[in-house]
Amino acid sequence: MSGFADYPKLDATSLADAIVSKRTSASAVVEAALARIAALDPRLSAFHTVLGDAARARARSLDEALAKGEPTGRLHGVPFALKSNMCVEGVETNCGSKILAGYRPPYTAPFVQRLLDEGAVLVGMTHMDEFAMGSSGENSAYAAARNPWDLARTPGGSSSGSCAAVAARFVPFSLGSDTGGSVRQPAALAGIVGFKPTYGRITRYGLVAFGSSLDQVSPFTRSSRDMELVMSVISGADEHDSTCLDLAPLEPERSDSVRGLRLGVPKEYFASGLDADVRREVEAAIGKLVELGATTVPIELPHTEYAIPTYYVVATAEASSNLARYDGIRYGPRKPGDGSLQGMIAATREAGFGPEVKRRILLGTYVLSSGYYDAWYVRALKVRRLIRNDFDRAFESVDLVVCPTSPTAAFKIGEKADDPVAMYLSDVMTVPTSLAGLPAVSVPCGFVSLEGKRLPVGLQIIGPSLADARVLRAARVFESATKHQAAIYSLEGAGA
Ligand code: GLN
Repeated sequence: MSGFADYPKLDATSLADAIVSKRTSASAVVEAALARIAALDPRLSAFHTVLGDAARARARSLDEALAKGEPTGRLHGVPFALKSNMCVEGVETNCGSKILAGYRPPYTAPFVQRLLDEGAVLVGMTHMDEFAMGSSGENSAYAAARNPWDLARTPGGSSSGSCAAVAARFVPFSLGSDTGGSVRQPAALAGIVGFKPTYGRITRYGLVAFGSSLDQVSPFTRSSRDMELVMSVISGADEHDSTCLDLAPLEPERSDSVRGLRLGVPKEYFASGLDADVRREVEAAIGKLVELGATTVPIELPHTEYAIPTYYVVATAEASSNLARYDGIRYGPRKPGDGSLQGMIAATREAGFGPEVKRRILLGTYVLSSGYYDAWYVRALKVRRLIRNDFDRAFESVDLVVCPTSPTAAFKIGEKADDPVAMYLSDVMTVPTSLAGLPAVSVPCGFVSLEGKRLPVGLQIIGPSLADARVLRAARVFESATKHQAAIYSLEGAGA
């Protein structure tokens, strides 16, 4: 490995510090990241596009600026990756779909610009399920990323490549998007930290829309401290998105204790369907938090069982409306069809969308159609409210809720690909929080053994609306007492 020898082991904070204090250069770090990607990504498929030349040029100009004594940013020289549904001027943003092949946005999303303004260096765009619909990366029109802990398994989805890029230590952080769990579930399956903020904490301007009332930009990092740093850069008000909250950027809490925190343990999340080994690790993690001074309170979230059906009405309804714009006129490679306008649109959409996206457009159009609207869509909105009410009631007597992130460890690529309902159920523990708009983190909490492989397990910590900093504090305290996140899978050594 060339360049900065310690690079893959460092987290963003210390890496930026090391670069700024001239113990290395941004160029050396970026070269180390690019070398690692070139050597290992052919086996992982995290990246759709690697921006080698642009990253090198940017690193050089950061080094020059530092040499001249110009002010440096908090992420000076830190390489990062973006999910391919995020707009960067002139860089292909294809959403894992053929219908956006070659689409280069004319602007850069503000949450990306804020990272660049702090000195971070974009090294590439990552593979994802088409339009973020999926839980394994297999719905991509390009490639399904692999899990560095076992290359036969998925790193989760839909933010598969962004997750794999951090888990394989190509980059210290990346951005994904979480609509129903697409950052928390992969983080759990690949042994890293994934955080979905309170809805509205980060602007959605420049994030290609899937389910607009659910979508949130959500980072992946290797530690909760890094998560606090990245969140403090990308969160905060933005006039381009009317659903973005008019709040200052997130400020990490100073406390490094969980003493006195009341943790709600929802019985619905420990029911049948939860893998016994995952359960054991999550219960041990909760025990650790109690050892650290927190207390547990049994709680009930009685509408949990309706979350998946409710999500698949709300999310598909919104998707069917959002995806109407891909018509061969405004975006996308055009197919002539029978030569009529309708024929051209139909042929373009038939060729451009994959089967899962078509399934969701059909479902969403159905639940919004006159005659079915009240029975499906309006009813789902009512149940969504009941799910939020469950959480609001719980948070009257607890400070945080703790539970598993995913009912199982990473599953095999191909295992659920032909069974959409089994795939949908892998999000049963992340979807309720998305419907309720609440902040939730997945933090590594242990391992299970499957077919001779060690596979990570994630603990999910959920907070009340706007308690993002409290959620991250609890994750940080847990992490520094356990160090699960320090475990790494040696891709270089193993023949997996
Ligand atoms: N797996 C869920 C879905 O397929 C969630 C996706 C996401 O969060 N983007 O819709």
